[in-house]
Amino acid sequence: MNHIDICSESIEKIKNIIAENQTFVITAHHNSDGDAVGSSTAVAEVLRQMGKTVKVILPNDFPSFFRWMIGANEIVTFDRHTKDAQAFLEKTDVLICLDFNQISRVDKLEPVLADWNKKCIVIDHHLGLQIQADAIVSVPEASSTCELVYRVLTLCGYESFITKDVAESIYTGIMTDTGRLDYSSSYAGVYEVVGKLIEKGVDKVSVHDKIYNVYTYNRLCLQATILKENMVYIPEYHAVYMTISLKNQKDYSFQLGDSEGFVNIPLSMKDVKFCAMFTEYENGIVKVSLRSKRDFPASDFAAQYYSGGGHFNAAGGKFQGSLQDAVKVFKEGLEVYKEKLQK
Ligand code: 5GP
Ligand code: MN
Repeated sequence: MNHIDICSESIEKIKNIIAENQTFVITAHHNSDGDAVGSSTAVAEVLRQMGKTVKVILPNDFPSFFRWMIGANEIVTFDRHTKDAQAFLEKTDVLICLDFNQISRVDKLEPVLADWNKKCIVIDHHLGLQIQADAIVSVPEASSTCELVYRVLTLCGYESFITKDVAESIYTGIMTDTGRLDYSSSYAGVYEVVGKLIEKGVDKVSVHDKIYNVYTYNRLCLQATILKENMVYIPEYHAVYMTISLKNQKDYSFQLGDSEGFVNIPLSMKDVKFCAMFTEYENGIVKVSLRSKRDFPASDFAAQYYSGGGHFNAAGGKFQGSLQDAVKVFKEGLEVYKEKLQK
């Protein structure tokens, strides 16, 4: 695969919806990452420049190291500002859903999306889209939703609205979703887009500084503790799992985004093909993050054992119960997937 195709019919529909409407709400998945915040802030800024009234409403808060993005300080979080968000949604003409494939991914916003009867646009790169909309761009082969946003904006003829700020939001989503062009980026098209963004003025050094070089001392100590004390290597399955308990989080004054990237670290071991990270939440839920190499389907494993999904090699889900029970289910799954893991 060397090329991302976006059908011209979807582009026409998006252009018409934007031309014919005035008020827009943009949303993305719960626990928004760089791709979700990047794509939301980029699309919002372009629409604002076109004279539209726009609000980004995210299900909950997002890591502080994405706050520098254009318009990020005006983002409304639905869990904390439900009434304001609902009032705005009522007078909104169009909902734009970015970077998620199922309405359950927006958590408390799910009923709003389930009942939405006005215009809707979806741009996403996860496997198995299950959202109905008037215009859909769903390309699982794409590196990121941000790459798709760049392509949609240019195909719509809005390239002049991609200012340096918009380009930096888009660039952030591509970098964070590909692990700085490590995975999901083995095709020329993604480098062409990055090149265009650099031409738009992206200050690569400064963006990387703002996303990657902002960790606290506590964050590094948490990483060291998790790797040393909570990481379990199971050589017979070429698998690793890690846990982050509420106590670990308390010990190191855990802040949103502090465990970003942890789950990828064990994949740097030569023989490891599959890695899981289990994070304990206050409400008795364990958040599950799965990463795999090559032909091992992390997305299938997430769907089968943790009511989740995502991408082939990077997926996630949830488990109701204790960390120990989430791990128990993982080990049972390893046995079921033994053949694929041992290949
Ligand atoms: P992460 O491990 O970084 O939270 O998520 C990895 C990938 O899996 C992301 O693409 C994310 O959208 C997806 N994902 C994470 N949690 C869930 C979940 O609960 N359900 C589904 N369907 N996808 C998830
Ligand atoms: Mn994404």
